[in-house]
Amino acid sequence: MQDREVAPSLQTTTASSPGKEAGSGVQIHIKASAAGPAPAPHKRGIGDAARFPLLAPGYSAHTFDYTKSDGPVTTADWLRVFRKSIPAYQRAAAHDPACAPAAGREAAAARFSGTFGGVLDALERDPCAAAVDGFATQPLNCSTLCRIRDQALHRHGFRDVFGPLKDEENGRALALLPAVLRELDAIPDARARMEAALRGVFAGNVFDMGCAETASKAEAAEAGGGVAGAFGSTRDGLLPRPWAVDDMDVLLARMASRCHAKAILFVDNAGADVVLGILPLARELLRRGTEVVLAANELPSINDITAAELAPLLSRAAEGDAALRRGLAGGALRVVSSGNDLGVIDLGRVSPEVAAECEGCDLVVLEGMGRGIETNLEAKFTCDAAKLAMVKHPEVAALLGGRLYDVVCKFDAVDG
Ligand code: MG
Repeated sequence: MQDREVAPSLQTTTASSPGKEAGSGVQIHIKASAAGPAPAPHKRGIGDAARFPLLAPGYSAHTFDYTKSDGPVTTADWLRVFRKSIPAYQRAAAHDPACAPAAGREAAAARFSGTFGGVLDALERDPCAAAVDGFATQPLNCSTLCRIRDQALHRHGFRDVFGPLKDEENGRALALLPAVLRELDAIPDARARMEAALRGVFAGNVFDMGCAETASKAEAAEAGGGVAGAFGSTRDGLLPRPWAVDDMDVLLARMASRCHAKAILFVDNAGADVVLGILPLARELLRRGTEVVLAANELPSINDITAAELAPLLSRAAEGDAALRRGLAGGALRVVSSGNDLGVIDLGRVSPEVAAECEGCDLVVLEGMGRGIETNLEAKFTCDAAKLAMVKHPEVAALLGGRLYDVVCKFDAVDG
């Protein structure tokens, strides 16, 4: 199969111009179907990619050094993290109905495995190799390895291998949302309610079928009592504080003393993560009078939700909830594309749409391990910023001095 190199973030985008998803009231870029051959991409010029305007000077999109040959986590360890992800990707690819013909799908999935495994083998032998098998391998960091994995999938004809799983998980999570919202509404104290909403974000982030460690944990939990029981027990069973990074008290105190005018939430995974974790937090912010912008990927990567998927999902969620419905109808709640095409995010290159949303924004939230820890844990902003994530790799836990399934709740107040 022909190579179809994926363009860097923002250089591929979707086929049409910004528009409104019918009936949703949500401003997004409508994207073409991920099924079948890739749509002829409209190539945005490099000039369209914007630096996220609320970044403070001195930004780097890399938290951890992937080039160490000794210390707690070495290059070989990071390569092993990516190697462990291969079986889940191969399995998802082999069952991807969007990739035709079906007869050749398993073989193509195996070729993906060989291609990506081969790159990791080569980097194990020579971590300084500039390129392997046509893939740019430097600088060696989390974003580069994520990009190569996606490019290897694209090379063998796969565009959105977790698509069916995302749909399934979204449906299951939506059915549980009313009960989660009722539980929150039953908490009269605003601070306690915000804490419960934040704990829900951490619990939701465990449900990550794109992560080798948590896929098995989530599957086991769901087998034991369904997503409902699994979500509740995960939220109630978060590791005891203090967490690996624990600014929860500072964050709650800030929330108590200030109502933010506008928040941009960079969201992570489809399913329980966005539906049961992020939407209740967004709703809690809305009820405080905060305008909420949900920034989701432009293009599919792993099981991350895209903006085009989130818009209709939000509309469905709002059907059963007056607060979300009001937010959507009045424009106080909306979805934008972040311009991103990976499970991590480099805020040095975001979409013009999310950059424009920085006007009036005084709170940025980066959710999930890829966005909140691996690329932006140390990022500084010119407004309040929270990084909310669950630690799902032992290597990340080791570097943060925490435990597996520990929580990262990092908060920096701009004048704090
Ligand atoms: Mg993710």
